[in-house]
This record gives sequence, C-alpha cells and structure tokens, in this order.
Amino acid sequence: MSEYPIDLERLPALAAAQHDEFKVLRYQLEAIDHVSDEALDKWVNEIAMPIIEAIDCTACANCCRQLDVYLVPEDRERLAQVVPNVDDLLEYERAKQVGEWACIGEKPCPLLHNKRCSVYAYRPQSCRLYPQFTPDFRWVIGDMLEGAGLCPIIYYTLVAIQARIDELYHD
Ligand code: SF4
Ligand code: SF4
Repeated sequence: MSEYPIDLERLPALAAAQHDEFKVLRYQLEAIDHVSDEALDKWVNEIAMPIIEAIDCTACANCCRQLDVYLVPEDRERLAQVVPNVDDLLEYERAKQVGEWACIGEKPCPLLHNKRCSVYAYRPQSCRLYPQFTPDFRWVIGDMLEGAGLCPIIYYTLVAIQARIDELYHD
C-alpha cells in the first residue's frame, strides 16, 4: 500500500482533525524569522517533491472536480486550438468578482474525462501550477490550509512539514 493513500472520502475528516495543528504550524512559520523566505521555500520543496512524485493525480482528479478553474486570455487562446466551443465554458462575471479574468464555472470541469484532463497539453496555467507551495510558502500557507481537505498532496505535505518543523529551529 502506498505511503500516501488517496482516500477522498476520509480526507476532509483527516484535514479537519489536523486543522488546529496546521494553524499552529502557520504561526510557527511566521515566527521563525531567522530562516529566510527563500530558505524556507527550498526546505518545503524538498519535503513536497517526493510526495508529489508518489501521488498519481490521475487516480484523484479532485481539484478538477471541486475547484473553479481561472484563466488568463492566453489560456483561452491555447484551449481554443482544441476546444472549439471554449467560449461556452467560460464565465466572466463570477471571475471578475474575485479579481480574475475568466473561469470555467462548471464542476466537475467539463474537460475532465474519466479522471484525466482531455486537454492536458493545453490546460490553463492555474491547472499546471496547482497545488503551488512556493514561492513564499510562509505567506501562502493560509491557502494551503484551505486545500488540505481537498488535495492529498497538500494534506500529506503539511503533515510532513509539521513532523519536521523542529529542523528549522536548529538552523
Ligand atoms: S482543464 Fe484539465 S487540468 Fe484543468 S481542471 Fe479541467 S480537467 Fe483539470
Ligand atoms: S493536485 Fe491534488 S487534488 Fe489535484 S489531482 Fe493531484 S492530488 Fe488530487
């Protein structure tokens, strides 16, 4: 069995059970100011990378099912090459309310087919970057906490960071 099982039914409860500890982690990271943002990012990436490599996103696809997908104009241009009706998928008003240009409003994302992105090579930049731990992990950890109940990579990475936080006090 994988060290990082994908159990999307249990994940929200697991994340909720860790919520207070994750909040403490956030305050700890803000307070450890002898470690620069760059050094912290490097440390976080070293912890996250094996987890990212171990988790098969095609066995999960939870982000594609649950999150709004935000686009910039270049994303629309790229998608239009393979999705002739791309404009039918886009919502502008809702995106504008959160300061974005456009979003795919329908959930699950209509471009998801059997847990796989049908336009993988053409997918929006926001899909390529998710889940993005760095740069500035210290200051985006609040968003990460929100995602822990949705994304196994985020959950396991936060748990691993929590288990190794003492390393930062000995730097
Ligand atoms: S475009 Fe592809 S990667 Fe992005 S949310 Fe839709 S299915 Fe997922
Ligand atoms: S990025 Fe997270 S939520 Fe999305 S498919 Fe991968 S493990 Fe699942």
